[in-house]
Amino acid sequence: MKISRGGRGTDVAAIIPAAGAGTRMGGRTPKQFRRLTTSPLLVVTVGHFARHPAIGSIVVVVPPAYTDRVERLVRPLARRVPVTVVAGGRERQDSVRCGLETIPEATKIVVVHDAVRPFVSAALITAVIEAARREGAAICALPVKETVKRVVDGYVESTVDRSALRAVQTPQAFQAALLREAHDKARRDAFLGTDEAMLVERLGHPVRVLPGLEGNVKITTPGDLRKARNLRRYRW
Ligand code: C5P
Repeated sequence: MKISRGGRGTDVAAIIPAAGAGTRMGGRTPKQFRRLTTSPLLVVTVGHFARHPAIGSIVVVVPPAYTDRVERLVRPLARRVPVTVVAGGRERQDSVRCGLETIPEATKIVVVHDAVRPFVSAALITAVIEAARREGAAICALPVKETVKRVVDGYVESTVDRSALRAVQTPQAFQAALLREAHDKARRDAFLGTDEAMLVERLGHPVRVLPGLEGNVKITTPGDLRKARNLRRYRW
């Protein structure tokens, strides 16, 4: 359902997948609806995109039972930019595809960002959008600090050279036509990826990797939420 129209007339759409059940968090409420301090995580995350001058429209993808509730939650943000709330699917990739089917026709660049990363910065959003305009696809990532091993049946099989490894975050940005093609191919092949870039990689298209942010954490467990609440207290 469309909440508002008009807006900044840019060609960038943001898709915020927020349709997960959040089972690792425990409790009945999915993690994206838990409060960071006063606002739900989801609202904090969507707010970064609503305030970003390059973003022309936002689609928030939520569990089917939550559409009305989220429409109410994002209404104040929808005064800045059109925000559409749609029901998601079984897997994250299905939810992003629901978002893709909803973005305006004229969209040139799509930014995908997990609802459960509420500390994204405006600079990082700008960086991925600009790189996607130039190169088609851009993600952000951090070097892996830990030693990484491949483990089989409780024993080390091998140690992976971590120098080329990166832990990937969102936001990820793509030219809209490329992302649509990547999703179409994944669907045809019944391929399921854990991020959008994986689908674009399968087309053989290069994906630019930009430096991520240490603070751009993904909130998955109750411990992550506790840490995030403390961080938020210091930052705002
Ligand atoms: O499950 P994961 O932690 O990878 O979820 C990342 C993001 O994708 C979360 O914001 C979650 O709500 C969203 N998601 C979704 N639809 C699903 C599963 C996850 O929108 N079916």
